[in-house]
Amino acid sequence: MEINKGQLDTFRKLIENASSIVLIPHKNTDGDAIGSVLGWWNLLKNKGYEASVIVPDEVPANLLWMKGAGEIIVYENNQSLAERKLREAGLFILLDFNDIERCGDMAEVIKTLKAPRILIDHHPEPDIRIASLLFSETEVSSTCELSFLIAEALQWEDKLDTHAAECFYSGVITDTGSLSYNSSAPRTYRVVGELVARGIDKDKIHKELFQSNSLERMRLLGHVLANNLEVIDNLATAYITISKDELDKYQYRPGDTEGFVNYPLAIKGMDISALFTEKEKDKFVKISFRSRSNIPVNKYSETFFSGGGHLNAAGGEWYGKLDEAVQRFRDTFPEFLSRL
Ligand code: 5GP
Ligand code: MN
Repeated sequence: MEINKGQLDTFRKLIENASSIVLIPHKNTDGDAIGSVLGWWNLLKNKGYEASVIVPDEVPANLLWMKGAGEIIVYENNQSLAERKLREAGLFILLDFNDIERCGDMAEVIKTLKAPRILIDHHPEPDIRIASLLFSETEVSSTCELSFLIAEALQWEDKLDTHAAECFYSGVITDTGSLSYNSSAPRTYRVVGELVARGIDKDKIHKELFQSNSLERMRLLGHVLANNLEVIDNLATAYITISKDELDKYQYRPGDTEGFVNYPLAIKGMDISALFTEKEKDKFVKISFRSRSNIPVNKYSETFFSGGGHLNAAGGEWYGKLDEAVQRFRDTFPEFLSRL
């Protein structure tokens, strides 16, 4: 994979001409989204540029140790400040999503603004109206891997310090399940090697990311595995449901259900997994899908749950009741599989 020289020149020009740069990830942020915005935030600051980060909704607690996290503006918590910053921006860099609607309510504001937009992302089939300059590569593990490759191609490596490296490393690790999937390219390991060479404390990062759970989160995981896991044997499919009442009972915080969708796939014989989380009682269900090999859960989610994502990791939405979402899945998924 090569980064296009013409695109790099355009990138340099856009950055140099911008008075202030605003970095934006998708809503429901994860390690790759926050790792990429804060990695660039550190890198741009080290290069002497003025940059800020605006995120649509609250950042999971296990990502707040990254340098710059304290300066993140959360749109849903501070709409007036966020909107002012968005209006003042001379350039937007959008990270880890392929459709502006993934910014939630913030999308409406961004769409009205004239400042140029750059996209750096690894999701398939980006909406090309999202930005005037697109770095869109599906073969990389993560937006963080792609970000490192762009920084390297720009010859900005000397400004990629330990803090920026920690951020980019976190995105590669979280988007690959600690290098267990989506990570078969030797290039990914070269990038990891380059990041480790910048003096990051790898063990500390893994502890922050994966071993900083609240007791309530661990109890919620135990509860759903024991009581809410359903298996559809003949489809090699298993899924978990979580109601809003259960989220409340276990004092749900953003990020608490991150990774739950991977557990059903750990059962021998299962190739597809889903997680249905009722975020608003009787009104809104967030869904995650995971699969193995060439089962395109992104296509399924796009067709039946207004969603999208990657071949083997996708998400969607259902505006209605939890049991309706599950019923829709049970009604439509067998036929979807049979047509593959
Ligand atoms: P997760 O299940 O971890 O939330 O998301 C898995 C993948 O699906 C990510 O790449 C994420 O960006 C994408 N995704 C999650 N929810 C949605 C959604 O509602 N719409 C679209 N288009 N993509 C989603
Ligand atoms: Mn990603």
